[in-house]
Amino acid sequence: MATFLSLCMERGLTSVSIWSSEIDKVGEAVALTSLRDNGMTVSGYNRIGPFVPKYIARAEFELERAARFGADHVFLFTGGITEGDRDLNSARRRAEEHIARLLEMANKVGVKLAIEPLHPMLAGDRTVITSLSQANDLCETLGPGIGVVVDVYHLWWDERLEAEIMRAGRAGRLLGFHVNDWLIPTKHLLTDRGMMGDGIIDLPGIERMMRRAGFDGPVEVEIFSSDWWAHDPAEVIDIAIDRCRKLFGQDMVR
Ligand code: ZN
Repeated sequence: MATFLSLCMERGLTSVSIWSSEIDKVGEAVALTSLRDNGMTVSGYNRIGPFVPKYIARAEFELERAARFGADHVFLFTGGITEGDRDLNSARRRAEEHIARLLEMANKVGVKLAIEPLHPMLAGDRTVITSLSQANDLCETLGPGIGVVVDVYHLWWDERLEAEIMRAGRAGRLLGFHVNDWLIPTKHLLTDRGMMGDGIIDLPGIERMMRRAGFDGPVEVEIFSSDWWAHDPAEVIDIAIDRCRKLFGQDMVR
């Protein structure tokens, strides 16, 4: 975490998303000081979920900690289907009930919740919320304090993408924009995301949709990739910033 933050600062970046598990490794005091010394604000805080007793019990702690870090939003991941279950609709209803309870807690603590719909191929083991339409419907039902994060990796294929981004924008619930790319072939669903520009996603096109919908937050690079993890972190950040500047324009990089 310390390396990441100082590399970001050296390149003039001012906003990062953080992981609870990484804070645990260095301790909260060190993480907070490191953010402050590097002049960083926190966009997203990872995360609450999967919705199993162990993590639900930690929810209040995570929300309060996210507030101490000044995070803009806290990510929710529902988890997939419980072992032996075949009833996706019931799993979705249970996840929605959990989210409703978490929203009450988050509203008390004063942090926003973020639903990030994942690619449908992850419905079995990661999340039962797999489209922006579904996330928008749920936010509409639940009311203020919850929004959506658009990750191109998960949503690029959706024929309703533009309509649903606009719908989220009209409701003021676009909280984040994650970029990476979809490689052909994709060798692993979780750890083979591409660097922006190396795959087939129309990244400038989706970024324009976000801006037209009123999103004025940062472009956030998120590349789970065993290939890129094997590179020198400074090199990866430099390439990512360069690609973002080429694809989205100079002033999008913060
Ligand atoms: Zn993401």
